[in-house]
Amino acid sequence: MAATPKRKISTARQGKRRSQIHLIEPKVIACKKCGQLKRGHFLCPVCKSK
Ligand SMILES: [Zn+2]
Repeated sequence: MAATPKRKISTARQGKRRSQIHLIEPKVIACKKCGQLKRGHFLCPVCKSK
């Protein structure tokens, strides 16, 4: 038998936990050097500049 929780988790508590579940929105910006779209704080895939 697997361990079971003693109490039912209320919908409020469940909602609070699930409110933190979300996908991180990738910040896509244009490269200053070549204009290629790249992710912020990431190296440019084309010219390798910051
Ligand atoms: Zn670039």
